[in-house]
Amino acid sequence: MKQLDSALVLFSGGQDSTVCLAWALERFARVETIGFAYGQRHAIELEMRPRIRTALAAHSAPWRGRLGDDHTVRIDALAEVSETALTREVAIEVSESGLPTTFVPGRNLIFFSFAGAVAYRRGIKHLVAGMCETDFSGYPDCRDDTIKAMQLALTLGMDRRFVIHTPLMWIDKAGTFALADEIGGDALIDVLLAETHTCYLGDREHRHAWGFGCGECPACRLRADGFAKWKAAS
Ligand code: ZN
Repeated sequence: MKQLDSALVLFSGGQDSTVCLAWALERFARVETIGFAYGQRHAIELEMRPRIRTALAAHSAPWRGRLGDDHTVRIDALAEVSETALTREVAIEVSESGLPTTFVPGRNLIFFSFAGAVAYRRGIKHLVAGMCETDFSGYPDCRDDTIKAMQLALTLGMDRRFVIHTPLMWIDKAGTFALADEIGGDALIDVLLAETHTCYLGDREHRHAWGFGCGECPACRLRADGFAKWKAAS
């Protein structure tokens, strides 16, 4: 499975993208990360990014050797053009469109465009991202077809071969914990629980068996349920 190529991981500081980063560190000779500040109401995820990178570098000598530069990109305009619960004081609920108000239209398409531009400049062919079609609210820009279309668009639009990897696409949250366990054992699970953040309300005060969070928002419930299911099966 080892590849000599480099990879760029879309790394938000959340649980899913942290597992993707570990996945990439197992596979690629050099791994860089990219994160986006887009006016999200709770920037705690972004604040956790350097700590998680440090923790993963400490995991093993090979990972430390492969982990390369981090890139952060500010996309303030995204919050200007979108009215969502992640960027404004809007309640988290299902909107008239049938999608949760946490959906930021076009977000992942924009992220991939910027990631592609950075990868192009860095001579990187592989992009790795944590989109998942299995249990995440039906966000249309997390669908496998969307990602495949984006891979084609980037490859054609930059006249450079890009491959987008989404290792979590067909597994649920319990499966994500199982994958993390398989890749990095207890040490990686500990990093996930202590350092990664997914709570929509930005809660870092309440510590549960499954990590920090309010315990009530959809992201917390998904993570808590996934952790319980994984524990019950392991
Ligand atoms: Zn929460």
